[in-house]
Amino acid sequence: MSHMSAIVAIDGPSGSGKSTTARQAARRLGFGYLDTGAMYRGVAVACLRDLVDRHDAAAIAARTRTVSLDISTDPDDQHLLVDGIDATAAIREPYVSAWVSAVSTNADSRAELVRRQRELVAGGRFVVEGRDITTVVCPEAAVRVLLVADPVRRMARRAAELGDAVDAAALRDQVLRRDKDDSTLVNFTDAAPGVVVIDSTDLSIEEVVGRIVDLAREAGLA
Ligand code: C5P
Repeated sequence: MSHMSAIVAIDGPSGSGKSTTARQAARRLGFGYLDTGAMYRGVAVACLRDLVDRHDAAAIAARTRTVSLDISTDPDDQHLLVDGIDATAAIREPYVSAWVSAVSTNADSRAELVRRQRELVAGGRFVVEGRDITTVVCPEAAVRVLLVADPVRRMARRAAELGDAVDAAALRDQVLRRDKDDSTLVNFTDAAPGVVVIDSTDLSIEEVVGRIVDLAREAGLA
């Protein structure tokens, strides 16, 4: 990748509004959009299909290396095929959200997914979103943003996404427990040098998107 690649890198915890804002920013900039979390979720789906034991790190790493992940980078048409089978809806299921930490805490799986993510965006214009994009996947991105939000607000957003059926314990599992597990190998709580922090607690999605698009313009990307 060149020194200043045409990449907008966005990291943040679950419920920070990352996916929605990243997708809308990509649309406004005319960029591709890569949801790296969907790739971790896709590996979890592959492991679940194969009944891989979530404590078998070697088997999870091996499955990560062999799985075919066909992910769309069109912000208006998001889909994921896992070994050729559509998993677009399945990756959002709570049992996948619960399983995915077994993949994201696996160092070999991370190395493989980081390699594929770099390959996908090499030479292109992309908004890339995840937990380690500003630090590991695209540290030389022209724009690097850490999106943060108050945990209470993040749980409220997740509750709104999940609908009425969700109880408080499930919500805490989806947000707070996952934050904790997700921080095992990656630090997405503190901004690395040069990374712009946007606190979305009291901002609308449009305001956050506006700031990201402004940063891209200032960096000469649009
Ligand atoms: O962003 P999303 O919630 O879809 O990500 C699903 C999971 O994938 C996260 O909980 C985290 O464990 C993992 N992930 C990661 N590194 C990324 C993106 C996602 O570890 N760059």
